[in-house]
Amino acid sequence: MSEKKIPYKIYLTENELPGAWYNMRADMKEKPAPLLNPGTGKPLTEEELSPVFCDELIRQELDNDTPYVEIPEEIRDFYKMYRPSPLVRAYCLEEKLETPAKIYYKFEGNNTSGSHKLNSAIAQAYYAKKQGLKGVTTETGAGQWGTALSMACSYFGLDCKVYMVKVSYEQKPFRREVMRTYGASVVPSPSESTEVGRKILKEHPGTTGSLGCAISEAVETATKNPGYRYVLGSVLNQVLLHQSVIGLETKTALDKYGIKPDIIIGCAGGGSNLGGLIAPFMGEKLRGEADYRIIAVEPASCPSFTRGVFAYDFCDTGMICPLAKMYTLGSSFIPSPNHAGGLRFHGMSTILSQLYHDGFMEAISVEQIPVFEAAELFARTEGILPAPESSHAIRAAIDEAVRCRETGEEKTILFGLTGTGYFDLVAYEKFHDGKMTDEIPTDEQLAESIARLPKLS
Ligand SMILES: *Cc1c(COP(=O)(O)O)cnc(C)c1O
Repeated sequence: MSEKKIPYKIYLTENELPGAWYNMRADMKEKPAPLLNPGTGKPLTEEELSPVFCDELIRQELDNDTPYVEIPEEIRDFYKMYRPSPLVRAYCLEEKLETPAKIYYKFEGNNTSGSHKLNSAIAQAYYAKKQGLKGVTTETGAGQWGTALSMACSYFGLDCKVYMVKVSYEQKPFRREVMRTYGASVVPSPSESTEVGRKILKEHPGTTGSLGCAISEAVETATKNPGYRYVLGSVLNQVLLHQSVIGLETKTALDKYGIKPDIIIGCAGGGSNLGGLIAPFMGEKLRGEADYRIIAVEPASCPSFTRGVFAYDFCDTGMICPLAKMYTLGSSFIPSPNHAGGLRFHGMSTILSQLYHDGFMEAISVEQIPVFEAAELFARTEGILPAPESSHAIRAAIDEAVRCRETGEEKTILFGLTGTGYFDLVAYEKFHDGKMTDEIPTDEQLAESIARLPKLS
């Protein structure tokens, strides 16, 4: 065979960093449904959103038509510190699996925050700075987003207030210290510092908090303090736009060697890494230029795509955020304390929800123990200690590769390796000690939270 030997890592140079993000919505015939004002049931306008979000980010959020958005020089300069990220050919994993499949993964864990979230954090911090704001507020559950945002804010000299779900604040002191190293103030939520926090503490003394509650506190702080806005690390259209840098780099690297993936796999929490990875490929699919099998992988404990409904719902449990049309389990659904913290969201990006609804992608759910088995196999063969979230995608990629072994098909499989698992070693410990369990919601539990979806006339 005269085929050029594909290197273990396909690196790009700085000059090959994409000059613009790609907005999949521009190529969608069925656009994602607009965010609605929960009070009026009408699509939210720029004016209504401006007390909460940065102006330029609102424009990106509402823009369904512009295909390419130039990446400002300042953001590209920051990207250059840790991008382009490597695209790796998983030769060792292929050999271990004795599969004829060719496996590639795009590794987003090679920055201090340890995940892809930095790609959007830096963009959001930039637009806040450009608007002359003093700072931003946000919530963090598992801690990856808060860490990424504190790095981005320190780079641009912005104040960063992170409401961290109390149970994580107490159980993940190291994440908290990374954030403080970058100058963020980290507040355990619920806190006494907001009206909504005081109310929740009064009603539920001793509560260890929830993401929904932390969102409510962060939004209240942003709207009550002049010069502050609220930022969010997943789900929103703007976040998928920024994350398209992942897919654009991947496509450039694959194109150099004439590689075309048959299957593209990503884990799905709010949908941002998957939306970013698939962006240019989905663009080709939407324009009818190419076809790919695209698979979203979610935890069986929080199965928004595979067991949810496609409907308008609140993005937060506090029911103060806009309504989004998405695959959802209902905003009152509280997933079990699964170790894949970054995948525990009841809803899903409206863009991916529409694409899934229209048959452009598939979804599967996987259980925790097989996910950690895949994580361990991956660590032992490819060397990288994967985040539990990322390991959902690894599980699915391995299963596809094993299927190829059985059928003899030489498929090319691409998956997103979103981050590293150094802060998740308690989960690995449970797995190694045989103490890992999984809680899969019953049909009755799901029916209950779905029955509480907001009724729109
Ligand atoms: C947050 C996170 C995810 C899930 O978020 P998406 O918005 O669905 O991408 C996946 N992997 C890691 C490592 C994360 O930190």
